[in-house]
Amino acid sequence: MRGLPVNYDYDVMAIGGGPTGFIAALGLAQAGVKVCVVEAEDTIPDSPRAAVYHWSVLDGLDRLGIREEAERIGFVKRDYMWLVKKTGEEIAYDLSALEGYTAFPYNIHLGQHQLAGIARDRLLAMANADIRFGTSLVTLAQDAESVRVSLEGPEGTEFLACKYVIGADGAGSMVRKAVGLSFDGMTWPERFIATNVFHEFEAAGCALSTMVIDDQWGAIIVKLTEDGLWRCTYMEGPELPERTFMDRLPDAYQHFMAQGHGWKLDRAAPYRMHQRCAGRFRVGRVVLAGDAAHVTNPTGGYGLTTGLFDAYALWPTLAAIVLDGADPNLLDIYADDRRRIYLERTSPRATANKQLVFHAWGGGAKLERALEPLRAMARDRDACREGLMFVKSLETVSPVEA
Ligand SMILES: Cc1cc2nc3c(=O)[nH]c(=O)nc-3n(C[C@H](O)[C@H](O)[C@H](O)COP(=O)(O)OP(=O)(O)OC[C@H]3O[C@@H](n4cnc5c(N)ncnc54)[C@H](O)[C@@H]3O)c2cc1C
Repeated sequence: MRGLPVNYDYDVMAIGGGPTGFIAALGLAQAGVKVCVVEAEDTIPDSPRAAVYHWSVLDGLDRLGIREEAERIGFVKRDYMWLVKKTGEEIAYDLSALEGYTAFPYNIHLGQHQLAGIARDRLLAMANADIRFGTSLVTLAQDAESVRVSLEGPEGTEFLACKYVIGADGAGSMVRKAVGLSFDGMTWPERFIATNVFHEFEAAGCALSTMVIDDQWGAIIVKLTEDGLWRCTYMEGPELPERTFMDRLPDAYQHFMAQGHGWKLDRAAPYRMHQRCAGRFRVGRVVLAGDAAHVTNPTGGYGLTTGLFDAYALWPTLAAIVLDGADPNLLDIYADDRRRIYLERTSPRATANKQLVFHAWGGGAKLERALEPLRAMARDRDACREGLMFVKSLETVSPVEA
């Protein structure tokens, strides 16, 4: 086909209508790029996953004009608590140490499907944006001028051409497989059980984000909505059968709730956890972002944080390439920066957090060493700010804006 002019259906197609795909597409569409989001499911999946947006990602939402709506639909929170279950030690601090250092010194809590939904609604109102729900990428091929994608949707098979593809189709990414990239790393033997549950955790002494540190009954307890819905995530050993996890849930709750009763389950889902990263984040006209590029266990809430920073760095880069003729090789800088951040920062910290919360580092001196920086954050404002800055260090700017 080389030499013939390509009839592009879109400038950029984002495969995957999770938060990464929708946020990247919104940035591109607002810049004037003709985009399409392709999502296999009929709606944005709403399984219990990311719920916390760290303060450091709020500038990026603000730039897209959606921070205020995210705050309205979700809610703002500032406090953290680490609770050492065996000793009862409570280590508490809040985000006030960031005042004067950022315009938004707080986190937002809302379900990731709601964040993606805000972006979806903005895109629906834009003439240069399409969304195809119920449509899966089957395969893709690229040459020097274009990427040709084959989609399976309500109307059957369709073949479309675009200039660039963003693979934002999650951990099992078809895009990543289609361009032959490895997904190197490891899978943890344990499983996480993520539950959304109505319970008076605050009355039981929990902060709005509480990390319960224990070698057997570690948990992450986070308030989700003002009407009393909370996320309680705990871990199960691999020897327990996954299909019966619901039978064990009431017993597990005994360890996190005063008296273990007075709860109403909203939903629950088991997850395998991984530390995995694609061998590269760019192959020609195809780039990866979000879980398609990297996955981590969720202790600390760095998975989508890293994915949002991917989207924030990617959309201005692609917009400059498509609209202003910027050098496409700028995508290599995007790809290398984001991969380095995952490997050097996201994954090691999330792994250490899992060791702390769910294994208590085996107790003893190792646990004490891990608790000391948290205690310092609780007693010293500068140490607190320094600790809170970790989530800012997951950001890289677009190479066109560096
Ligand atoms: C229990 C739990 C709690 C978490 N909490 C946090 C948190 O608080 N903070 C945080 O930062 N992260 C958290 N994470 C991680 C976070 O959920 C992920 O990083 C996030 O979902 C990544 O978003 P994404 O858009 O990249 O991928 P996904 O959300 O996986 O979206 C990918 C989309 O692509 C679609 N798709 C797949 N294949 C195709 C195809 N062939 N064609 C078209 N569409 C396709 C899927 O249907 C899906 O909608 C948590 C994860 C878990 C499991």
